[in-house]
Amino acid sequence: MTILDGKKVSNQIKEEITQQVAEMKARGEKVPHLAAVLVGNDGASLTYVGSKVRACERIGFESTLVKMPETTSEEELLKKIEELNQNDDIDGFIVQLPLPKQIDTQKVLLAVDPDKDVDGFHPMNFGRMALEMETFIPATPFGILEMLERYEVETSGKHTVVIGRSHIVGRPMSILMGRKGFPGNSTVTLTHSRTKNIKEMTLQADIIITALGVPGFLKADMVKEGVVVIDVGITRVPDVTRDRGYRITGDVDFENVSKKSSFITPVPGGVGPMTIAMLLKNTLLARARHKAAKA
Ligand code: NAP
Repeated sequence: MTILDGKKVSNQIKEEITQQVAEMKARGEKVPHLAAVLVGNDGASLTYVGSKVRACERIGFESTLVKMPETTSEEELLKKIEELNQNDDIDGFIVQLPLPKQIDTQKVLLAVDPDKDVDGFHPMNFGRMALEMETFIPATPFGILEMLERYEVETSGKHTVVIGRSHIVGRPMSILMGRKGFPGNSTVTLTHSRTKNIKEMTLQADIIITALGVPGFLKADMVKEGVVVIDVGITRVPDVTRDRGYRITGDVDFENVSKKSSFITPVPGGVGPMTIAMLLKNTLLARARHKAAKA
């Protein structure tokens, strides 16, 4: 059994990008600039945005954090997004979700210039992804592809079962695993809460990607020997033995499922760390496209 070590791979990616940024600087070129918009004071969102901004600083990108109050109106946020769209110094930006309830998330995501949409959430980029064109792939699915590639996990001709159909993980993952090429060329089954016989499907799966947010959902009796397991789930479970009062748990019963797996991601330290690394990679791509468009 091989652990798919997201921490190690994400550090490698960050080192590679740091090197590329240093070379850009040495050539006197503008370095990539990522902006992050945070509306409100949600604790988890503050943590996520903070990590993204710090990661930018560490690898030599420019970064801007745009903080807006919880009471921000939809109109005010749309105005801010238009400013970021027009700001030539910014190569890419993200709007941290969830947004306060007075704001229509769909409207906001549609307002982001697709060329600056480094989260890959705009319908144009999602469509480009489905059509196998170059685009910004949403960071979490992109991170999973990168891990499969770097560990040379065979995906061609395999049966991949994805559990969860969210727009940011499950659904794009199901599209990407069925694309032509590597990683891809899988036969994909996309399952969700209305699927009646998940165990029958997972027992046939060569690769299982869990993105449902139900701790320990995937048990050892649901998988076959040699399965590849990618656990996207991140749930805070109360734990009095920890100083912070909780521990992070994935969707997989790691202790028992890992005994039957050929490859498996741990939680924490698997898919999670890859997400920020891939956001940085998308920002690098945005910079390259921005530069090419102006040449
Ligand atoms: P989401 O929007 O909450 O969607 C969950 C999906 O799981 C839905 O499609 C739902 O089905 C399905 N589901 C729920 N219970 C189920 C069950 N008992 N059996 C089968 N399917 C079930 O989730 P998300 O945003 O994709 O996040 C999923 C998990 O990944 C969460 O724990 C989240 O924290 C984590 N996550 C991690 C990262 C990372 O960087 N590692 C990034 C994003 C998310 P329906 O569609 O029928 O409701």
